[in-house]
Amino acid sequence: MPHSALRPATFDERRAAGAYVGDAKSPVGCMDCVRLEAARRQAVAECHDHDAVVDATVAIRSHFRDAHLLFRTA
Ligand SMILES: [Zn+2]
Repeated sequence: MPHSALRPATFDERRAAGAYVGDAKSPVGCMDCVRLEAARRQAVAECHDHDAVVDATVAIRSHFRDAHLLFRTA
């Protein structure tokens, strides 16, 4: 096995290999992304509560992974 095969597959490699699930919707125009990003920006702008910023950032990442990056690695 070539050593390069041991590194994690890139997005394109996974997609090319068929691991990318076609029903993962595009983030373009996703209202959840818009809403979560707006909430994060507001949390950053208010800047009083660091935890709120972290929570909002995690919420975006979690949503993005679940909604837009539905890899099947098993
Ligand atoms: Zn989204």
